Amino acid sequence: MIRIESEPWAAMVSHARRTYPDECCGAMLGTAADGTKVVSAVMPLENAFQGAQAARYELRPEDLLAADRAARSRNMDLIGIYHSHPDCDAYFSQTDLKNSCPWYSFVVLSIRNGEFHHANSWLPNFEQTEAAKEELIYRHAQSTDPDPLAAVHREEGRG
Ligand SMILES: [Zn+2]
Repeated sequence: MIRIESEPWAAMVSHARRTYPDECCGAMLGTAADGTKVVSAVMPLENAFQGAQAARYELRPEDLLAADRAARSRNMDLIGIYHSHPDCDAYFSQTDLKNSCPWYSFVVLSIRNGEFHHANSWLPNFEQTEAAKEELIYRHAQSTDPDPLAAVHREEGRG
């Protein structure tokens, strides 16, 4: 299970909306204990893909290394990577699988017409042949919602 605290979640959504219609990507920092990962901070990273970024992202190894160092300096770990799927579901694509690392959680945010739609977290296997869906908990505060605590959301996931 991965739980994303409200502040990093808001940062991820705003990053994904900002880069729309291109994909965004970034690092999720936090702690993991007893099978539960908690994301307490995120680091937006540059999409380094040299080409159309509407359907692809690429992370620089040095950016990932810097995120790992930043996590350690705050007594946290780099526990996952997030990226967005503009006008597309939050599935884990073959390209995502090919570029994955089995020890990270991969959160995909579906952005439709520039607005957050849904999200899923994925755990790739060591062979990078498939990814299992991980239970994802986040709190999505909508501007029309007077009580953000009422918006606690458990994503059941889609295909
Ligand atoms: Zn993707």
